Amino acid sequence: MQHFPIFLSVAGRRIVLSGGGDAALAKLRLLFKADAHLTVFAPEPDPQIETWALEGKLTLIRRKMAPGDALCAVLFYAADEDASEDARTTALARADGALTNIVDNLRDSQFITPAIVDRDPVTIAIGTEGAAPVLARAIKADLEDRLPTGLGTLARIGKAFRKAADALPFGRPRRDFWRDYYFNAGPKALAEGQDAVQPALDALLETHLTKPAREGHVAFVGAGPGDPELLTLKARRALDEADVIIHDRLIAPEILELARREATMIDAGKEGFGPSMKQDDINALIVEHAKTGAQVVRLKGGDATVFGRLDEEIDAVDAAGISWHIVPGITSASAAVAAIGQSLTKRGRNASVRFLTGHDMKGFADHDWKALARPGEVAAIYMGKKAARFIQGRLLMHGAHAGTPVTLVENASRPNQRVVETNLATLPADLSDAGLSGPALTFYGLAPRAALAQAQQFDIALEEAL
Ligand code: SAH
Repeated sequence: MQHFPIFLSVAGRRIVLSGGGDAALAKLRLLFKADAHLTVFAPEPDPQIETWALEGKLTLIRRKMAPGDALCAVLFYAADEDASEDARTTALARADGALTNIVDNLRDSQFITPAIVDRDPVTIAIGTEGAAPVLARAIKADLEDRLPTGLGTLARIGKAFRKAADALPFGRPRRDFWRDYYFNAGPKALAEGQDAVQPALDALLETHLTKPAREGHVAFVGAGPGDPELLTLKARRALDEADVIIHDRLIAPEILELARREATMIDAGKEGFGPSMKQDDINALIVEHAKTGAQVVRLKGGDATVFGRLDEEIDAVDAAGISWHIVPGITSASAAVAAIGQSLTKRGRNASVRFLTGHDMKGFADHDWKALARPGEVAAIYMGKKAARFIQGRLLMHGAHAGTPVTLVENASRPNQRVVETNLATLPADLSDAGLSGPALTFYGLAPRAALAQAQQFDIALEEAL
């Protein structure tokens, strides 16, 4: 981030602009939104600027800028649309101590003006560091559509009510009250007219003051395979409402970013069945936080119900008499199979699919190898990298075809996703050659679709050649 966003207090302070043409007009229209003292230097101002001066909206000085003209100004805009004049005025303004901006010249500007969505006092500033003004405008248009125009009114009335709302205990009770106001009672009242908002606020406060305190609760949330867009809407909402988030190590930072800023984030450091915080300690941690009345999100990679040791955590929460629910997530097998363009099941090939773990707490996990070794079987193997040679040995021993396709998908759905295509015979060698360091899903009995198509074409060509 090269430009750090802040909201600058300009009420009653000086802003100076040099220029009298179109660029100056556009900036001035924006600057009128703030309660600043505007001074414009322009030898030949546009008639509109003269009108604004007559209306008292700005002070117009009909000459070029001179040293000292920007003294005490907090901001300066060079809008003469002439590179050498803009450089001259900017140098003067800097000497006077103002922060300077040259219209349409990002490189020589000390600050930039974002695209603004104005629901005063709610203001949203959108910046792209000059990289994509089109994108900023599109985001602005999108937000303009989505935010009700009454939002500003609700915020203004709400602001005056803040003192009264302080009667509610700090933290969640107060947050719940305001959420209820902005997203429920407020808009409803405003639909009846502005006068209905204040009585609605009074009634709402009464309801919240007499409401019993909210009890702690645990949401076991599947965070999906890594791509934040593969989070469910429910998972997003849970993150948004959480007081405490206890997450696995594999959760992508982009997903944790979505959490409420005040939420306490705890890295439980679990990576599959790997070395980590002890399960008992995690259980105790969840219970301890929920007992304080917190809304706890236990965030697990993929789907919490797949190789997630969920039941142990639920048992602990149950034993403590705390309520809980599960928010399903997209398991990594779903993301990985999508990455290779295949289906987990297919008519005529496999009517069932197994989710296996390569190893469990006792070591390499045993399975019904005989059943798996039959042609057409498909298995999604979690935590299968270390167990690759063991799995290969068991399957071959039970009669699996050495050429059965095996595909590994590392970091499924993430930008660094990789696919390793191999077969049962060459699995251990290809796996060690590939040097995968991230989480990987192993598909037994599935090859990537594109390669499959190529291989088939190759077979046909070969047959024809013979
Ligand atoms: N609950 C998780 C699985 C936890 S076990 C889920 O539903 O996906 C951890 C194993 O999941 C890893 O060893 C790896 O095999 C797999 N895994 C997790 N994230 C993955 C990803 N993004 N790409 C491929 N495999 C992944």
